[in-house]
Amino acid sequence: MNEYILTIDEGTTSARAIIFDHSGEIVSVAQQEFTQYYPKPGWLEQDPIEIWTTTMEVIGKCMIQSGLTPEQIKAIGITNQRETVVVWDKNTGTPVYNDIVWGDRRTAPYCDELKAQGYEPMVKEKTGLIIDSYFSGTKIKWILDNVKGAREAAEKGDLIFSNIDGWILWNLTKGEAHMTDYSNASRTLLFNIHTLDWDDELLELLTIPKSMCPEVRPSSGHFAYTKVHNLFEGKAIPIEGIIGDQMSATFGQCCFQKGQCKITWGTAGTMTMNTGDEAIESKNGMLTTIGWGLNGKVQYLLEGTVYNAGSSVQWLRDEMKFIESSGDSEFFAAKSTLPLGTCYVVPAFSGLGAPWWDSYARGTIFGLSRGAAKNDVIRATLDSIGYQTRDILESISQDMGEKIELLRVDGGACNNNIITQFTSDILGINVERPSNVETTAAGAAYLAGLSVGYWKDEQDILNNRKVDKVFHPEMDTAQRERLYAGWKNCVKALMVWSEGEKAL
Ligand code: ADP
Repeated sequence: MNEYILTIDEGTTSARAIIFDHSGEIVSVAQQEFTQYYPKPGWLEQDPIEIWTTTMEVIGKCMIQSGLTPEQIKAIGITNQRETVVVWDKNTGTPVYNDIVWGDRRTAPYCDELKAQGYEPMVKEKTGLIIDSYFSGTKIKWILDNVKGAREAAEKGDLIFSNIDGWILWNLTKGEAHMTDYSNASRTLLFNIHTLDWDDELLELLTIPKSMCPEVRPSSGHFAYTKVHNLFEGKAIPIEGIIGDQMSATFGQCCFQKGQCKITWGTAGTMTMNTGDEAIESKNGMLTTIGWGLNGKVQYLLEGTVYNAGSSVQWLRDEMKFIESSGDSEFFAAKSTLPLGTCYVVPAFSGLGAPWWDSYARGTIFGLSRGAAKNDVIRATLDSIGYQTRDILESISQDMGEKIELLRVDGGACNNNIITQFTSDILGINVERPSNVETTAAGAAYLAGLSVGYWKDEQDILNNRKVDKVFHPEMDTAQRERLYAGWKNCVKALMVWSEGEKAL
């Protein structure tokens, strides 16, 4: 009887169930979207019950499609949208409010207050994070402060919280397990990434009772058994891996060693660098976070985000109507006739992130001549993904004090050969695209599989890794540095404009 690993992948817009075989190949996948709620500008919520019912449906579909029996599922791994938080009543299992999604900005004014009061250095030292509304802590406080009766119930010990991983685990186990893993805990703003404990001072600052916190465990290891009658024909399957999505993609890319890094070019672009057992504090606006807990220790990462990667291609498609599908961008960009470095697009639609940090900046096109045409703007937009990748890579490289020799890529936009080749050219290093670009789901599967001995060790997993293509730098150094200097000029000019805007 062949055995398999099931990953439950809780994304921001959809839930997926994916079954992997021993060679790391996908055997079956089912996916379904759930509703996004925008109650006010800048707010973003989901219904935790809908996420759970959607999850059950995709697990059911995935199992039926695969033709496997529950006995053939050796273990389950869970990966999830990070920071999104649910608060529920542990007696009834009922959420007291919708889950508040990572991108929700409702607590931004409160975060500004905390910063003005001088808390950021302390928070950064303990959590590796900046004070920002993205992280779960201030969202939990908002629920306790704004939902009638919530604070009293929390203080009585009736309410608990978790990110989506723990919510799904709780439901899979019918309320037996209230747990999360180190990677998810490290995104709450409440967890000390050095002592590996919930931090009393931070909990007190955000007025969150400690009794609400999930138990934190290594990402790979036994969590609990499933207990839901209408799933897996009632059979108890062990849940053996939990990990946040970006960390999971890092593991799925086999960045097991210090100095190995990947970027996931989805809607945004997130680069993570394995810094081994050392939590490096960034001087360049990167976050320090826990990658995973495995074999009795944790691995730390440095993480930096490009706000607009694939989303700039969506902008070409949906707003400019230059292309019909994201994939078309490659075809049209190849027809651009302007020399590189003539026209630049800076897709700062929602401001500039690391290392520039200018929230007033907005998207800009530079260097249009009379002959500049649609295809040139498409090409410049694709190139902006490469330039921004270099911005982040240089910041991380400085923090590490090491030159980075290879970048692994995944996410929707990595299928675009122009983006990937140009990134290699502008970085001057090799860029590697794996055959299996479903790295997020693979990471959780690997961690669960390692826990039950399905894969022996990291080497066993590495043996599975297949590379689709390595892109080598083809540009000479002078050209590379000229183009990148041109990009930096654009960013500088944009920041002058945004200074002016701020003053108006
Ligand atoms: P997410 O998980 O953030 O939704 P995905 O990894 O599914 O992202 O990638 C989707 C993003 O990748 C979209 O923004 C889309 O525009 C972009 N994308 C997908 N295919 C291509 C392509 N061939 N060329 C450029 N961009 C692409």
